[in-house]
Amino acid sequence: MRNLCVLGSTGSIGVSTLDVCARHRDALRVVALTANNNVDRLFEQCLVHKPKVVAVAGRDQASALKARLTAAGYADTAVEHGPDALVAVASLPEVDTLMAAIVGAAGLLPTLAAARLGKRVLLANKEALVMSGPLFMAAVRDSGAELLPIDSEHNAIFQCMPSHYKAGGRPQAVRKILLTASGGPLLNVPVADLDHVTPEQAIAHPNWVMGRKISVDSATMMNKGLEVIEACLLFSLAPEDVQVVIHPQSVIHSMVDYVDGSVLAQLGNPDMRTPIAHALAYPERFESGVEPLDMFQVQRLDFQSPDFDRFPCLGLAYRAVREGGTMPAILNAANEKAVASFLDGRIRFTLIAATIRHCMDQVTAVPAESIDRILDADRAARAAADAFMADHAKH
Ligand code: NAD
Ligand code: MG
Repeated sequence: MRNLCVLGSTGSIGVSTLDVCARHRDALRVVALTANNNVDRLFEQCLVHKPKVVAVAGRDQASALKARLTAAGYADTAVEHGPDALVAVASLPEVDTLMAAIVGAAGLLPTLAAARLGKRVLLANKEALVMSGPLFMAAVRDSGAELLPIDSEHNAIFQCMPSHYKAGGRPQAVRKILLTASGGPLLNVPVADLDHVTPEQAIAHPNWVMGRKISVDSATMMNKGLEVIEACLLFSLAPEDVQVVIHPQSVIHSMVDYVDGSVLAQLGNPDMRTPIAHALAYPERFESGVEPLDMFQVQRLDFQSPDFDRFPCLGLAYRAVREGGTMPAILNAANEKAVASFLDGRIRFTLIAATIRHCMDQVTAVPAESIDRILDADRAARAAADAFMADHAKH
């Protein structure tokens, strides 16, 4: 029996995780759930999964949820609030498995806490890893935590590694990783039109249904950039050993190219319940609810190389991982700010990359030797992004 805490249970990954849990009540017990603002969905999840404790962002939301749960006969469910509560539920002694599915920097401290305590960490929250990089991987190594990637590409790569492989280790006889990318909704939009892309166009992903932030990241291909950094950390690879391959069908989720000429791939329908079920059942396997892949329906698999002029965010991510230190945290913070402004209609689509480049030029990277250094870099980049975007806002 695994005892689970789901950080970000009301989001796209959180909902898929609980869907898999509901299929395996004999093997998985939900101990803790957290949400930012979506108290209605969290309440429904409590009725189904009966967690011992839940956490939300604000005090008022916590008391409202507590009252509803008590009225529904669930007075025993503890309701906490605030950022410290996230760390507390992720650290509970009865939690042995953490699903890190908060979006963005807010997930860093609770995910790191679970890694330091040696838990099994299922990592969807790529921003947390990108920000804290070697510090996070050292915490995993030192505590003996079991880190399992949920991002479909990294989960695919992990599945193509030898069965004894542990994330963070240097894989033997691997020539390179082929990181597949759908290319997102703007793959074939004329470059001259990118200035006028709306939030609705940007979040209309052709193959995956996901949260709004990662959907915009897919449109800019910053998602793939963050994943390049994630791959370097998870698999101890240099950036030049991680090659992005555009594969519009999203059927091959990534490949590992070995020195003997073998290329191993993991295939499947684009449904996050596959990597989630893989990590929850690891090293066994169980049913995920995902439709079987029908190769006759797929018919063809296409590949092309990415256009770094159309997708400048991809080049910025390679630059950040090469420069190292706090530069990936600077890149991530600037991106989070710029994407939020774009979604709010305050800046043009093309200003996302311009803002990130400005912050990387403006904020000096230092060695990412402590969490304070990393959070300082995050704050400095957010301030630089705000100032730049104020000068370049649409109106
Ligand atoms: P989402 O926006 O659908 O859900 C985010 C969750 O985090 C919600 O439960 C929300 O309440 C919570 N949250 C947001 N801000 C918070 C804050 N400040 N404090 C506490 N909780 C907060 O996002 P998603 O698509 O589920 O993505 C989650 C993470 O998984 C992201 O890092 C994303 O990059 C990664 N990921 C997602 C997918 C996917 O298919 N959705 C695939 C690969 C990786
Ligand atoms: Mg991915």
